[in-house]
Amino acid sequence: MNRSALPDPTRLRANDPCFCGSGRKFKRCHRASFDPVRAAVVSPPRSVPEEIERPPYADTGERSVRGEPDVKSADVIERMRRTGSAAAEVLRIVGDAITPGITTDELDVICHEASIAAGGYPSPLNYGGFPKSVCTSVNEVICHGIPDSRALEDGDIVNLDVTLYREGVHGDTNATWCVGTVDPLSRQLVRVTRECLEKAIAEVAPGRPFNRIGRVIQEHAEAHGFGVVRAFIGHGVGETFHSDLAVLHYHDPRDTRVIAEGMTFTIEPMIALGDWHHRMWDDDWTAVTRDGRRTAQFEHTLVVTSDGCDVITLHPDGAWSGEPGSSDDLT
Ligand SMILES: [Zn+2]
Repeated sequence: MNRSALPDPTRLRANDPCFCGSGRKFKRCHRASFDPVRAAVVSPPRSVPEEIERPPYADTGERSVRGEPDVKSADVIERMRRTGSAAAEVLRIVGDAITPGITTDELDVICHEASIAAGGYPSPLNYGGFPKSVCTSVNEVICHGIPDSRALEDGDIVNLDVTLYREGVHGDTNATWCVGTVDPLSRQLVRVTRECLEKAIAEVAPGRPFNRIGRVIQEHAEAHGFGVVRAFIGHGVGETFHSDLAVLHYHDPRDTRVIAEGMTFTIEPMIALGDWHHRMWDDDWTAVTRDGRRTAQFEHTLVVTSDGCDVITLHPDGAWSGEPGSSDDLT
């Protein structure tokens, strides 16, 4: 199981037959989804009804850090379980709308309205001035893509990152979907990324060092010839959207901090087909790979229990959103 087993569609020539088996030339079939993602038109921010409880930054755009403790009270954890489950339901609703031709702005509308219908505030909205209610990261966009007028292409991959604020706490979860017919190498990237998160979750238990999380992610990604993005990390979450606790997705043996019962944090590996270095767009939000090759991401919020952890951003049906994992073995 390695990268060389699957053809790289970015190396297809324009007149080669398309990877999808249509018999058409690549240039007349799926090549458009490999064009660089470009910024498009961002519509005005959407409003949230008065009756919805707002996080402190909703009106200021600040990224307040209250010095929230890493270990949460039982009360905070109970509220986080309810909000996390609701966030997963919102993610599923938005993901179900993914289809070639829909714009990421239309997905933002769906997320905004589903968040409000769930009785919550869409946490990204005005967080640090972010203009939209969900992050939509297409192809080489690593994270924090801003929904805009770009329509999804058949052959794209897209990550939706949903965070919901309700009962005074945040629930943060994301997943990556394939749009229409996607080339086998990109599908492998998405599958391996999901497996990286599954393996990382299995490492979480009180008394263990945090560095086991990054080690298992990096080992699994690199076994497939993929890279781990370093610049964006998992984080503590609770009454604040991003608290001080940092969760690395790569192996740093010097990170000897120990996981403790009652901690709540995200794990959200971003895995790159090629080089893991990033660059920022001029909007200061959108992070893309420097080499322009694709990345995928999956994220859950966890609470550390007495003997492991619970994923608190599971949909009530127990299934993850986004593309499936190892049952779809492509190699
Ligand atoms: Zn095709």
